[in-house]
Amino acid sequence: MTYQKLINKGKKLAREKGLEEEAIKLIVLELSGLDGAAFFMNLNSEVEKELEDKINEAIDKYLSGLPAQHIIGYSYFYGYKMIVNSSVLIPRPETEELVGLVLSYYDDYFDGKKVEVVDVGTGSGNIAIALAKEEANMHLTATDISSDALLTAKQNAINNDANVTFLQGNMLDPLIDEGLKFDILVSNPPYIPDDEYVEPLVKDNEPNIALFGGDKGMKFYKEILENAKNVLKPNALLLFEHSHKTKTEMLHLANQCFPNCQAEVLKDLNGKDRFLVIIAGDFND
Ligand code: GLN
Repeated sequence: MTYQKLINKGKKLAREKGLEEEAIKLIVLELSGLDGAAFFMNLNSEVEKELEDKINEAIDKYLSGLPAQHIIGYSYFYGYKMIVNSSVLIPRPETEELVGLVLSYYDDYFDGKKVEVVDVGTGSGNIAIALAKEEANMHLTATDISSDALLTAKQNAINNDANVTFLQGNMLDPLIDEGLKFDILVSNPPYIPDDEYVEPLVKDNEPNIALFGGDKGMKFYKEILENAKNVLKPNALLLFEHSHKTKTEMLHLANQCFPNCQAEVLKDLNGKDRFLVIIAGDFND
């Protein structure tokens, strides 16, 4: 069979199951071992039997509910290739917007200065690595409670030639233990409310500790914000991704923990309330 026929067959089956069809092309391209241009030149070439079996096996995995990113082993985040597996959250597009926000707030508030930045709950290391690559004046530290996630994150940092210091521990604990202080804190912690329905593709394949955030999904923001002063320099910036349903709760928490701060919630590209930005001011006053 040709690549094109394998793709068409796979797409039809994906469509019947209500799955994303484009993923089939990605899987076939990856397994072909060809680069983009060669692949498209060879769409109508016959595929060797052994490779055809491998491709069909991978398509079957996708049809039976495995994420395409787990089948090919990676995902792209902010243009950087990140290994993903069952120990880490697959980076989401909204989180690329969070990285963009951190970079633009850095330009406005710290332009050209060297800053210490921490990414709390780094998962695959995506946020920390993208920031380290995009802004040479940022020195990145990243924490995660999962040592398996940190193994993946460290490999991603090596593969992308990014300088990030990784520390293992819950939320801010390792930072407090080491007495570290930061100019910018960024985090996309787990924020799905414990009782919310999550589709099997996500729930059965991505680590549940990276998905669920307690009652209303607020647990980790509380943990971070209630302790944040211990790890921040005066006039620090804090930027979070959060559920589109918790704007009020996020603003309330920000004002409770940093009474003199400026806090605002920004929308994502889909028009949903998604990011909390806190300009902490001199919170020692
Ligand atoms: N920081 C990682 C990301 O944004 C992991 C987030 C998580 O595990 N909740 O993708």
